[in-house]
Amino acid sequence: MTNVMETQNRLYIGGEWRRGRGAEIVSNFPADGSLNARLSGASIEDVDLAIERAEDAANDPAWRRLLPHERATFLYRIAEGIAKNAERISQVQSRDTGKTLTETYALAMSASGTFRYMAAALETMEEAITPSRGQYLTFSVHEPLGVTAGITPWNSPIASDAQKVAPALAAGNAILLKPSSWSPLVSLELARIIDEAGLPRGLFSTLPGAGAIVGDRLVQHPAIKKVSFTGGTETGRGLARKAADKLMTVSLELGGKSPTIVFADADLDIACAGVLFGIFSSTGQSCIAGSRLFVERSIYQAFVAKLVAATERLRIGHPFDKATQVAPLIRPRHRDEIEAHVARARADGGRVLTGGERPIGADYQQGTYYRPTIVADLDNQAALCREEVFGPVLAVLPFDDEAELIRQSNDNAYGLACGIYTRDFPKAWRVARGIDAGTVWINTYKQFSISTPFGGTKESGVGREKGRDGIRAWMAQKSLYCDLGNRPHPWAAIAV
Ligand code: NAD
Repeated sequence: MTNVMETQNRLYIGGEWRRGRGAEIVSNFPADGSLNARLSGASIEDVDLAIERAEDAANDPAWRRLLPHERATFLYRIAEGIAKNAERISQVQSRDTGKTLTETYALAMSASGTFRYMAAALETMEEAITPSRGQYLTFSVHEPLGVTAGITPWNSPIASDAQKVAPALAAGNAILLKPSSWSPLVSLELARIIDEAGLPRGLFSTLPGAGAIVGDRLVQHPAIKKVSFTGGTETGRGLARKAADKLMTVSLELGGKSPTIVFADADLDIACAGVLFGIFSSTGQSCIAGSRLFVERSIYQAFVAKLVAATERLRIGHPFDKATQVAPLIRPRHRDEIEAHVARARADGGRVLTGGERPIGADYQQGTYYRPTIVADLDNQAALCREEVFGPVLAVLPFDDEAELIRQSNDNAYGLACGIYTRDFPKAWRVARGIDAGTVWINTYKQFSISTPFGGTKESGVGREKGRDGIRAWMAQKSLYCDLGNRPHPWAAIAV
């Protein structure tokens, strides 16, 4: 890893590799606490420089006037670059976040697919000639916004970065990326690939640094025309307030407390595997984690017993071990927060059925490991059922009837995702349509496709990403009227 880390004491600012002038960022490997890199983060001056270069690059006709299929070639090249470097990206991201190599490799390939999809979507995107109400040709066209920004969290950095950078560039903008200072390294890998793909300088910058400084500057700067944010709900709310003052478009992908529902008629092996994957993959550090489980009362005892037994068979281990299912958490402070959530659940009367502690053994001593945890006997109003834990902690609750189930599922501030397990398709459809969430999975969980829009309702967010319309979200719509009458306007004809 050393050479990766050495080159990365440079940030990619306005198309140049420069040492950041902001506070130091330290990246440690969550599996053993060893040092990955020390990095000088971006300062306000660095952000301003990146914005200045981005404005020039975005307004340069060499970029702004490119035809869609020409712009798409850059995205195809970036997609290829990511795919070619997927192993390396995966290594860097696993060291930075503690995620398994299997997962980070999949995230890298998904980022590559995002660039490829956005390139293809761009090439096939059409503008509209709208029905005219007079002697006109009327068009609705889309144009770039100019300079934009993406602010991303630490849990799936390369995939989140791609979800913002690819459509922003496809739309013809410049984009400044601010990754989390907990996971800065992979976003700098993305910068290296974008640089090698020959994207005109200034169109892209990577500015790791403190959210309250670097992120805030991006949000408040008058030249930034849109911010797409993925992160916690409270951060997103603060950012939206500032965006409102500027009357700037924001898209917010925020937190979740997603319900998973198991009906008595479900295939219980499929349901059990889906529930485990939904909450414990990524060690629960996932916005869409299925962290509240509702099980129909007639099978509650048996299904929960099956789930606990299966949970105890999950392999907790080193992120580089291909057999590992549950890897360490991002950092010690995050584990402390998860432990505090579990302590609170116990104090609220919750019964810990499994987990609720750090794993024991020499292999786990140095890393931020935490056992997959299942808690029963809590009310849906308990803190563990209301608040996002962002860790491997599942609350289980029984339910009796469909109406009450839907009411309880929706009785939560968040509305990001939901999973439903049943063999009765009409019932699944009914419940899915009754659940207030951006995404509902039926007999599966945590499946994604770049062609399917994603986003949340309620406190889980505003706006949608992905899909063909994902590019439009980074554009300004313009209407054009072209007169076909070839005569002076009748209102003034007499005067001319
Ligand atoms: P966070 O809100 O702490 O940080 C997210 C990003 O915002 C980081 O880059 C951070 O530096 C930046 N930031 C912090 N303060 C800021 C400010 N005042 N102005 C501008 N930027 C600021 O979130 P996190 O801990 O990095 O990530 C975990 C959260 O992200 C969870 O709540 C999770 O649910 C959410 N998330 C949501 C999705 C989704 O698609 N809905 C996906 C992944 C993660």
